[in-house]
Amino acid sequence: MAKTIIVSNRLPISLRHRNGRFEFKPSAGGLATGLGSIYKTGENIWIGWPGNTVDDPEQRAEIILELHELKMAPVFLSKEDVEQFYEGFSNECLWPAFHYFTQYMIYNPEHWEAYVRVNQKFCEAILKRADPDDTIWVHDYQLLLLPQMLREVLPNATIAFFQHIPFPSYEILRMIPWRKQLLEGVCGADLIGFHTYDDMRHFLSAVNRITGLSNESGYLQAENRIINVDSFPMGIDYDKFAKQAKSRKTQNIVKEFKGQMIDQKLIITIDRLDYSKGIPQRLQAFNQLLKDHKELHGKVSMIMIVVPSRDKVQSYKELKEEIDLLVGRMNSDYSTLNWVPVHYFYRSFPFEELSAFYSMSDIALVTPLRDGMNLVCKEFVASKTDQSGVLILSEMAGASKELQDAVLVNPNDQQGVVDAIYEALQMKPAEQKARISSMQESLKKYDIFQWVKVFMDRIEHVKEKQEELT
Ligand code: UDP
Repeated sequence: MAKTIIVSNRLPISLRHRNGRFEFKPSAGGLATGLGSIYKTGENIWIGWPGNTVDDPEQRAEIILELHELKMAPVFLSKEDVEQFYEGFSNECLWPAFHYFTQYMIYNPEHWEAYVRVNQKFCEAILKRADPDDTIWVHDYQLLLLPQMLREVLPNATIAFFQHIPFPSYEILRMIPWRKQLLEGVCGADLIGFHTYDDMRHFLSAVNRITGLSNESGYLQAENRIINVDSFPMGIDYDKFAKQAKSRKTQNIVKEFKGQMIDQKLIITIDRLDYSKGIPQRLQAFNQLLKDHKELHGKVSMIMIVVPSRDKVQSYKELKEEIDLLVGRMNSDYSTLNWVPVHYFYRSFPFEELSAFYSMSDIALVTPLRDGMNLVCKEFVASKTDQSGVLILSEMAGASKELQDAVLVNPNDQQGVVDAIYEALQMKPAEQKARISSMQESLKKYDIFQWVKVFMDRIEHVKEKQEELT
């Protein structure tokens, strides 16, 4: 029987060295949970990098065996691969380009060669395990060349691709010297998915202008087959967040945290350290609010969680320093013995505490300058089980297309963000309830499991359509 192979740069586990041995820590992320319903059944499997370099052949053999038990197979990357393919081409060329930060793009031919080489490594790892009629679902921007590499060897396989980050306009994409190879790589797939309609439009327009393929109602006509391109906005594991927020454990944490901040409105912000998240701009807006509204001093605080990420890349190091400086300046300007405006944490938190932060906060301030989807805003809404609270959301996040009942802002409009926070602080409970409950309805319906189902059903549909046409 044909099986399904999930492929992503990272496996849904982390491999850690401890006392000369390896330990596996499973990922609790939404995508891993959603795809669990697929790779854990039958002969299906997930292929990817385990997140650490392993050179010793004996240790590799041991890891292969242990991962086999978990229905996973590793692609081993060398230190050089990680530096040039992952940190280099993926994160210093594609990531900034696709998020419209062209000033951070690095055009390094060695990085490009490593990108080709590592996509080839993934292809070989898959070919060792794939049968000609399997379904192979490739994830994200690190593996744009893989669908076509697979297609050349497995012409009849069902290949799908989903991109989790934005797809930029043609004007940005064309800055990348290897744009044509990248697009031809993705077009090896039968189904290509993005989070939003805009991403999909940008992709179709770039394909048309760079490769000459034209589309009709989301179908590209390639040489010998049709390719479907569409938007599939990803959801969260809604019930998990709603249930955790109500749990005794989380409510006890809320009581403990709240006890230390009596009579204060709380604004939560949670991001990975990334320039695309607009963290300094958000701090500046909060600073402006405190400058304009002295009556809010002592009455409102921000809890800012920044999760460490890519800290070897220069632009991320500089961003961290900028944030440290801004928080330090604000807290030294405004703090009193009883009040600190910004509670800043540069680390990640366990799920129960994250849930408590969402649950106890009055406002979530989610203002990325550009974001493929943004799950934090959806998790906040799902965690507000008493239907109080206000979500302030950037128009530049993919999620804003679905969450129209949020207070939407342009993150570059500092005064607009200041006004939105002020409005949120004054919003009546009835209006909060109406907005939150309407957003909860749609998040409940289109959760991560539904997203996986809709995408898998579409793959089947595209295959049927292809057969009809031959
Ligand atoms: N997150 C986490 N631990 C933390 C803070 C955040 O696991 O201490 C999670 C959060 O729950 C969310 C994810 O990190 O699911 C961030 O996803 P998002 O789409 O918002 O941004 P990304 O980091 O993928 O750009």
